[in-house]
Amino acid sequence: MSITELARPEIRALKPYSSARLEASGGTVLLNANENPWDSLGGGVNRYPDPQPPELIERLSFLYGVSPKHILATRGSDEAIDLLVRAFCIAYQDAIIECPPCFGMYRIAAGIQAAKVIPVPLDPDNHFSLDLPGIIEQADRAKIVFLTSPNNPTGNIYGGDEVTALCERLKGRALVVVDEAYIEFSKSQSMARCVGEVENLAVLRTLSKAYGLAGVRCGVLIGSESLVGLLRAIIPPYPLPTPTVTAALEALTDSGLKTAAQQVATIRDLRAYLAKGLQKQAGILNVIEGEANFVLARVDDVPGLIAATQRKGILIRDVSHYPGLTGYVRVSVGTREEIDALLAITKELAAQELIE
Ligand SMILES: *Cc1c(COP(=O)(O)O)cnc(C)c1O
Repeated sequence: MSITELARPEIRALKPYSSARLEASGGTVLLNANENPWDSLGGGVNRYPDPQPPELIERLSFLYGVSPKHILATRGSDEAIDLLVRAFCIAYQDAIIECPPCFGMYRIAAGIQAAKVIPVPLDPDNHFSLDLPGIIEQADRAKIVFLTSPNNPTGNIYGGDEVTALCERLKGRALVVVDEAYIEFSKSQSMARCVGEVENLAVLRTLSKAYGLAGVRCGVLIGSESLVGLLRAIIPPYPLPTPTVTAALEALTDSGLKTAAQQVATIRDLRAYLAKGLQKQAGILNVIEGEANFVLARVDDVPGLIAATQRKGILIRDVSHYPGLTGYVRVSVGTREEIDALLAITKELAAQELIE
């Protein structure tokens, strides 16, 4: 069975909008798309972009080691999350499963589509591991299971075998989406290589984190050919702006990839440096280094730390309201100087407490 049989019937029946770019390609005199003929800014921005530029898809396919037919480029992975929920969940009827504490966009996308959210919490007492029996038990009520690996904000990764076993159990019942926004910072392999064999698996990747292109907005869904086809029917006609495509192609040249790999290695080193630096401080009770580009720290006084860092213009993320994360803050890995500035504050706070 194709996973798209689980999609909303009206989406499966939809005939996608046929844009001028899709109906005819090539040509040197373009009088078919009501564009302005003068490229005043340069870079070809007077023309509508290719909906899925072949050069970019080719490059992403090389980067992720999957065939181009498994790739859909999107406006950040946020857009892919939204497309998935809208394609599969019937409003007021279907549900998604998320495993909190996790990334917040699955819940938002579900809310927009009036889909229910079934939370199957991670186990905070066991390194935030997945509750697989819990997920399987709820899966009949859900169309999509969202897993974040490495997880945001806890930084842990789920085992590939664990995920493929879950896909096997949910075959014909639900789509498993593994959001790998931070996988480049981890020691583990991406699940992307399994997409060809596991029909109900989709993987989300992004250029926002490891490739330093958060402002460019380019994400990638890797899924079965039928899933990619289904989502292409509902993605807006020109999802990737020309400047985005240009910037992404530049970041993905051989030299661009080399720079990114060096930065990822540096970020991993700095992550260890940050985790170690925090660990030594009196007001910090626990540090989870994780496998992403941030660390998680449990502190004795969250509002105090947030206020003190803010006074120095340093922003960290209060995640203490997330289930299972009472007392925790999340700190992104910055430059060595930025980390030192933060550590100076935590040190100062600890010293003040001793005096009080
Ligand atoms: C940052 C983040 C994203 C967002 O990626 P974009 O490609 O920038 O939309 C997706 N998933 C998780 C878990 C993230 O932390």
